[in-house]
Amino acid sequence: MAKQKIKNRSSHLNRSKPDQRESSNGAGFAEAAVSLAEIGKGFHARGWVLGTSGNFSAVISREPLRLAITSTGLDKGSLTPSQFLEMDEAANVVRGDGRPSAEALLHLAIVRGVAAGAVLHTHSVWSTVLSGSHASQGGIALEGYEMLKGLEGVRTHKHREWLPILENSQDMIELGERASITLRESPGIHGFLLREHGLYTWGAGLQEAKRHVEILEFLMEVLVRSGAAISS
Ligand SMILES: [Zn+2]
Repeated sequence: MAKQKIKNRSSHLNRSKPDQRESSNGAGFAEAAVSLAEIGKGFHARGWVLGTSGNFSAVISREPLRLAITSTGLDKGSLTPSQFLEMDEAANVVRGDGRPSAEALLHLAIVRGVAAGAVLHTHSVWSTVLSGSHASQGGIALEGYEMLKGLEGVRTHKHREWLPILENSQDMIELGERASITLRESPGIHGFLLREHGLYTWGAGLQEAKRHVEILEFLMEVLVRSGAAISS
């Protein structure tokens, strides 16, 4: 009975608005797109998403799962809200023009794995250097820095933050599965690195995720500039 109801409802939606079927409340999407564009331009200005690198998403509905996400191939320095897409739990576009980045599957893996409300991905010089130099150790430990307290739930500089490093891949299904395993095996982490590629971090909401990018990028820059990463 319940199934029948859902079927009827969706076929009604399909007839009335074929281009927007199963999309979320438009206001939530529009608000997320404005914030994501602003954050993306800020990250570009900091040199963390040069060229068309990086991608950003925010959950706008949990049931059904819907994300606002960057369209692929865009210059992050001139992002506009109209360039964002709404995608469903299988990375199908349900609103907007363009297609999501291939890395959309990683965003979905993170949203599912840690119930994140926003996922932000950067390609900085610092994350590229560190994820290469520490790949053989499987990750990098961040410890003793006051800035660690900017990570959600961290109260002291004595906290030891483990930033796992995953081997990079162009096979996003396989990489998404490895990311899911990492999230399961390392509960409490705030992000991970893809080798010589970049950082993925997240938060309960967009502002928390943005803060995590700023904190982790800061700490990685400190490690490289201070030479501390060489001996660790
Ligand atoms: Zn990337």
